[in-house]
Amino acid sequence: MNSPEFAIPVREPDQVGLDDTILPFAVEALDLRGRIVRLGAAVNTILTSHDYPAPVAKLLGEAIVLTVMLGSSLKIDGRFILQTQSDGPVRMLVVDFISPGNVRACARFDADRVAAAIAANEATPGKLLGHGHLAMTIDQGPETSRYQGLVALDGGGLEQAAHEYFLRSEQIPTRVRLAVAEEFRAGENGATRHWRAGGILLQFLPKSAERSRPADLDPGDAPPGTASHVVPEDEAWVEGRSLIATVEDIELIDPALSSEQLAYRLFHEPGIRVFRAMSVNAQCTCSRGNVETMLRSFPQEDRDDMVEDGRITVTCEFCSSTYVFAPDEVTAPDAAATQDAAATQDSASA
Ligand SMILES: [Zn+2]
Repeated sequence: MNSPEFAIPVREPDQVGLDDTILPFAVEALDLRGRIVRLGAAVNTILTSHDYPAPVAKLLGEAIVLTVMLGSSLKIDGRFILQTQSDGPVRMLVVDFISPGNVRACARFDADRVAAAIAANEATPGKLLGHGHLAMTIDQGPETSRYQGLVALDGGGLEQAAHEYFLRSEQIPTRVRLAVAEEFRAGENGATRHWRAGGILLQFLPKSAERSRPADLDPGDAPPGTASHVVPEDEAWVEGRSLIATVEDIELIDPALSSEQLAYRLFHEPGIRVFRAMSVNAQCTCSRGNVETMLRSFPQEDRDDMVEDGRITVTCEFCSSTYVFAPDEVTAPDAAATQDAAATQDSASA
C-alpha cells in the first residue's frame, strides 16, 4: 500500500464559498488541470474606483479574471501584465498581477464611441475591443529578460483570444470561461450594487507519450497515396471541454455556490482533486514617493506645464489615488543630491 494516493484525504466539497480566491484542481483520470477564480471585493474595489460605463467595467472585469487566472499559474516572483491595444471603442485594457496575489487594472476608451455602441446595443466584449492585439508580459525585475506573448484580437472577446493563444503559442488544449456581473443587494438606504466576477480555466496536459503525440509519423510501409493519419481529439479532452461548455455565468459568480462545489459538480464522476486555494487582493503599487521620483525625472518645462492653481496634481490611472505637490517639492534632484552623485562618481573613478 505505498500508492501515493493512500494518504490523500477524501472529503465533501466545502459548502462555504470564499471570494477573492483561486482554487487549483486536477482531474487525474482525464489528465486535466485547471483553476477556478472567484472575485468579490477585489473586483468591486477596482471597478468602483473608476467611473467607467458598465460595459467597459464588465470587459475590464473579464480581463482581471483572466489575468489572475494566468498570472497565478506562473511560478514567478514579479509582475504579469495583460494588455490589449485595439481599434474598438475600448482602445486599451491593462491589468497587472503582482505575485503572490495583488491585482490592479485600468481601461482607456473613447466615451462617445462607447455611448454609441451602448445605444446601438452593440457593447459586446468583441465589439468594444475591435481588432488589434493582446499582449502578455512577464516582468521579474531589471535583472531578468522580459517574456512577451502576443495574440491577435479579431473581433472576438477575451475568451476567444485566450484559446487562440494557448493553441498557437503553447500548444496546450485550453478552455476558459469568464463571467462578470453586478449584484444588487437590498439595504436600509436602498439597493447597493457590487461587482462580482469568476472564471474557470481547463487544460489538457496528458502525462503519457501516447496521448500527447501530436500526430503519427508517416507509416514507411504504406503504399504511396495513402492519406496521412489525422489525430482525432483525445476523448478525455473532448469530455473536459464538453463539461466546461455547460458552465453558466451564474455558476461562476454565485456567492451561494462555492468554487469547490462547482468543481465537484463538473468533475465528480471522473474524480477531482483540489489544491490549497490562494487569495487575491486589489492593491495598487503607486505611492507618493514613486510619483515624486517620476515628477523629478521630468524636464522643468514639463513640470511647469503641469502646474494648475499653484499645484501639481497627479492621479493614478490604476486606482484613482490623487497626489498633490507644491511645484518646489518636486524640482529636479537638489544640489545636495547632485553633490552626492558627483561624490559617488569621484569615488568610482578613483
Ligand atoms: Zn495607484
